[in-house]
Amino acid sequence: MSKGNINISTENIFPIIKKFLYSDHEIFLRELVSNATDATLKLQHLIRIGEAKGTFADPLIEIKINKKKKTLHIIDRGIGMTEDEIKKYINEIAFSGAEEFVEKYKDKIEDSGIIGHFGLGFYSSFMVADNVEILTKSYKKGAQAVKWKCDGSPAYTIENIDRKEVGTEIILHISKDEKEFLEENKINELLTKYNRFMPIPIKHGTREEAKTIGEGDDAKEEKYTVDNIINNPTPAWTKKPTDLKDEDYKSFYRELYPMQFEEPLFNIHLNVDYPFNLTGILYFPKITKNMDIQKDRIQLYQNQVFVTDNVEGIVPDFLQMLRGVIDSPDIPLNVSRSYLQADGAVKKIAGYITKKVGDKLNSIFKKDRKSFEEKWDDIKLIIEYGMLSEDKFFSKAQKFALYPVIDGANYTLAELIENSKENQTDKDDNLIILYASDKDQQHSYIETAQAKGYKVVLLDSPIVPHLIQKLETENEKVKFTRVDADFIDNLINKDETKISKLSDDDKTKLETIVKEVVPAAKYTVQMEALDSTENPFIITQPEFMRRYKEMSQTGGGGIMGMGEMPEMYNLIVNSNHPLMDKILKAKKNKEKYVNQALDLAKLSQNLLTGKDMTEFIKRSFELMK
Ligand code: ADP
Repeated sequence: MSKGNINISTENIFPIIKKFLYSDHEIFLRELVSNATDATLKLQHLIRIGEAKGTFADPLIEIKINKKKKTLHIIDRGIGMTEDEIKKYINEIAFSGAEEFVEKYKDKIEDSGIIGHFGLGFYSSFMVADNVEILTKSYKKGAQAVKWKCDGSPAYTIENIDRKEVGTEIILHISKDEKEFLEENKINELLTKYNRFMPIPIKHGTREEAKTIGEGDDAKEEKYTVDNIINNPTPAWTKKPTDLKDEDYKSFYRELYPMQFEEPLFNIHLNVDYPFNLTGILYFPKITKNMDIQKDRIQLYQNQVFVTDNVEGIVPDFLQMLRGVIDSPDIPLNVSRSYLQADGAVKKIAGYITKKVGDKLNSIFKKDRKSFEEKWDDIKLIIEYGMLSEDKFFSKAQKFALYPVIDGANYTLAELIENSKENQTDKDDNLIILYASDKDQQHSYIETAQAKGYKVVLLDSPIVPHLIQKLETENEKVKFTRVDADFIDNLINKDETKISKLSDDDKTKLETIVKEVVPAAKYTVQMEALDSTENPFIITQPEFMRRYKEMSQTGGGGIMGMGEMPEMYNLIVNSNHPLMDKILKAKKNKEKYVNQALDLAKLSQNLLTGKDMTEFIKRSFELMK
């Protein structure tokens, strides 16, 4: 047995690391399993090129707990190490790597978010163990097996041992404060979290399975024990897209998110090796109102090792609602988040993902427009958000973003413009696109517009006010107007002459009566000679006013404060409606009629509530008498 001292300048780095990575102790297991995986892959490679003897028969990494001895064992069948290699790789590289790590990050504890995901390698085992042993035998011919032991301080011992099998066993003597790592469930949970898709099978314990033998009445269940293999060493994203069927993608989705019962809408297989390496599969989930976007997020892997499910900065914001996996050895994980966001490679990755998503959507749209249209409702929020936030995506999405006409076709913007220009161009040569944000709430306005042969598109995402603002900027002479922004002849003003049935004198009289009853602080009364079949009173709110208000409510620069604007409406009085005659000639009840008509107008705008509603109901019954 020999003793020695590891040559590092920081006396004992262990306490610093322990404090520093306090919340992330659990990553030691990921690190050790990664090392075991690397060692196994290396041996496989050497066998393949004829440098080592052996077969790939059954590569396996085994994790065992010895509760009595309070030890955790990580056993691999990899290349192993000779005494010299231990001295070089463990004493020098692992320890100096840890030292370097502490030097680099000791001042950045508050930014440990991502650093915590970055491993310290072998040394991280001292975060949970008082003592660590390495029992190892190199694959090299005639290699002597050795045992290394160390308590995290620079002092270590090394001795020869008897060991037949090539490979390495790491034994952690778990410290008192870290007893949870001696629990089967905890270890299972960690292996599932970090190592679920690592390329070498990982065994932890055994489990019982049952099979039926015999048939009919003689059938019997027989129980037997099998190794409990934690991981799927060949997850879908590591395979070629041509080798995968739709069902394979779906079953991988279920594997990733076992608690998700909703099927994904479609998937995007990412695969690039220049100028950076990246593979992965992204899924568009069905977006529901009660969806928890903090749960079941995109997972980031580095060579099949789980790193994080916080992909902020790597995946563009608008795609963070997607699910799936991204695997890249090129993402610099050992840096802080702010650095990450400024990193050139990471920016390229975000750009690539955006482009790929745009291309995929476009190809689905072209290949199978019907199914794309069916999915539109579930994907529009992501696409519209993307159009707003990424200019490159905006131009791509112009080709497939849909504008569904109520009771009509699902047009792209170009198609919509083409199909409405004849009937919906106003006197100033502007094409007016009419839209509704709620089919039911704006029903009477939609019906009026449809009766004129106008197309009304349904745009009901919360970001629509911002989106149409952008669309108007990009498309000169195209204006969006909500159906309830004005009375019908003014929605698309074609300068048609209106014939008034009332004399000017009667009009003035009528206006005075209405203004006496209707609160001036809330309504601007506007006399209009509309078609006699139009409603007598109509409440509208100018497009610009409502839109800016909505934009400031959902956040938008420069227009803050508009949210506090008083709620103002126009009250259009249709002087051609037969009711006006009745109001003018009425001896009593003038006020009642005006109020009744006002309340009915409010009702069709969903504005009638509370005391006003109660009074309306009372008055309605009275008028029926
Ligand atoms: P890294 O894995 O990042 O190189 P580590 O501190 O985890 O750093 O490990 C240092 C070195 O020790 C490894 O590069 C490897 O050569 C060696 N090593 C660690 N674990 C094993 C193992 N299970 N089998 C063989 N060699 C190992």
